[in-house]
Amino acid sequence: MAFPLLVFTDLDGSLLDHHSYSFKGAEKALIRLQQLAVPLILTSSKTRAEIEILQIRLGLHEAFITENGGGIFLPLDHPLQNINKLQQFNGYRGKQFGKPYKEIRRIFQTIKDRYKLIGFGDMTVDEISKLTGLTRKQACLAQKRDFSEPFLFLVETDLQALKTELVEYGLTVTRGGRFYHLISTGQDKGRAVIGTKDLFQAEYQDRIITIGVGDAENDYPMLRIVDIPVLIPKPDGSYVNMHLDGLRKAPHPGSKGWGESIMATLEELEKQRTTGKLTFI
Ligand SMILES: [Mg+2]
Repeated sequence: MAFPLLVFTDLDGSLLDHHSYSFKGAEKALIRLQQLAVPLILTSSKTRAEIEILQIRLGLHEAFITENGGGIFLPLDHPLQNINKLQQFNGYRGKQFGKPYKEIRRIFQTIKDRYKLIGFGDMTVDEISKLTGLTRKQACLAQKRDFSEPFLFLVETDLQALKTELVEYGLTVTRGGRFYHLISTGQDKGRAVIGTKDLFQAEYQDRIITIGVGDAENDYPMLRIVDIPVLIPKPDGSYVNMHLDGLRKAPHPGSKGWGESIMATLEELEKQRTTGKLTFI
């Protein structure tokens, strides 16, 4: 890491365009991050299996955060020294914050009829594919869950009543772009981002700066705790309602806005570094 910087990013609607899942608009910025050896840490509601494929597409071999902060995964050959102290699971080193999927599904089964919910575990691969625009193969990967259940309301339901009932199970609900997600209480992208940053910070003398990029409500816990939060607009150009000090609003939706915001921020940081003053700290 030539520059004491970590970039945490949401995927759908942020680095990836909402409809096509393309990251074409971000290519220049991705290359620049690679040149600066800045770790790009995918921080998504997606599953481990989905993110593994994306890491390959993006040419990344880096830590990543799955299922809204359910877990942090680091490849076994990651250059961080202290990862050997971390738990080994599913072929990675890392940390788990969420309850196991089996338990989440068991609780989901007990509430789904009363609240008229349908979860990924109730849907066929074709149904998931139709709802998400994912290919059948991608939909299969989205169904391989470790820590959370994405779901939809079949009829309009009292979300607050559902959340209140879930407290006794140690669960809560967050909202991503397309789906609601049943997750463990305290499981959010922010907590996992802090956990990941701490792993890096333990091995770097310089104070590490963090950039976070997201577009939806479930990105708020991440954007709230990073040094430089970036909000990507929805496909129609409007922004989700979010108030944060220093929030930077990307000029375009999806990968184009992602790319332009990252490039502009990197330029500012590099300029500040040459003058010896990093004012983001
Ligand atoms: Mg998103």
